[in-house]
Amino acid sequence: METMRAHVFHGVGRTSIEQVPIPEPKPGEALVRVTLTTICGTDLHIVRGEYPVKPGLVIGHEPVGVIAELGAGVTGYKVGERVLIGAITPCGQCRACLSGHLSQCGHGEGYEALGGWRFGNTINGAPAEYLIVPAAQANLAKIPDALTDEQVVLLADIASTGISGAESGGVRIGDTVAVFAQGPIGLCATAGAKLMGAALVIGIDRNPTRLETARRMGADVVVDARECDVVAEVRRLSGGGVDVAIEALGEQTTFEMALRVLRPGGTLSSLGVYSGKLQIPYEAFAAGIGDHRIVTTLCPGGKERMRRLMELVKHSRLDLTPLLTHHVSLEDIVEGYRIFGEQRDGVLKVAVKP
Ligand SMILES: [Zn+2]
Ligand SMILES: [Zn+2]
Repeated sequence: METMRAHVFHGVGRTSIEQVPIPEPKPGEALVRVTLTTICGTDLHIVRGEYPVKPGLVIGHEPVGVIAELGAGVTGYKVGERVLIGAITPCGQCRACLSGHLSQCGHGEGYEALGGWRFGNTINGAPAEYLIVPAAQANLAKIPDALTDEQVVLLADIASTGISGAESGGVRIGDTVAVFAQGPIGLCATAGAKLMGAALVIGIDRNPTRLETARRMGADVVVDARECDVVAEVRRLSGGGVDVAIEALGEQTTFEMALRVLRPGGTLSSLGVYSGKLQIPYEAFAAGIGDHRIVTTLCPGGKERMRRLMELVKHSRLDLTPLLTHHVSLEDIVEGYRIFGEQRDGVLKVAVKP
């Protein structure tokens, strides 16, 4: 049996590069030779034991590669074509998918919370020489020749997620938008708010390098949370409250601040992954009758989403390459995790080459 190198999760705090069998595509699947991937904050949660997956799983969910083999029934593709695959791989055929909730894709019958998130969660993921793509017909997005792997790899997850924060928030032309936290997802939410037509985008963080990058990604004003009363400052900048507040960290403090800067009738668009209990202070919520909307979104996936995001890059509306601050080989991925996890030397995203 032929083998390949893959980044395998063994248990809390333990991952390594292993030799594992090269999988074979079943009907409807595709085998992709991975040419570039990256490490996500969610992978850190997994390694730290904050999100459970089974030991032995290849973790990671942001693949770019080349089709190596097509399973029976996958049509319109050729071996050797370059493809981007979203972090979320909807089947396109279940009740959830056909109701438009692709990320909450079930397995045949009903809905399943986070069911569309399979790579590095319920099936093997991207940091490996080869990867099986489920529901390949719905998930292989051909990469235009003009685009490099580096230009598209961040579309699989963080750009799709970040931009969806602005989309789900219903940002309208002329809106004022505050984005809480300018990590990779928050930076993409900032770019998304700008793309959606916001007149004023306010980026908030505590890290000066990230605030600097926020300006490059489309923030008109940045607020350093170490230096001021954030809520008062954002309310002042927005003339009494923002139309849309995007939460991109997943903590009680930022969630609460996002609520407190919102105008009545405004939308809190939440992207963060929370743990434990999340509380809503009633006065910031106008006792529940302030016409506020709170919406949550899991990264949109599927090949049409990827195609649309690649169009943005192709036509120079979106450039994510400033976020790819570090590059490592698959052999050095554990070191990549360390740099990323400890937020060392200005890291935003680490590109990993198998
Ligand atoms: Zn992710
Ligand atoms: Zn589905």
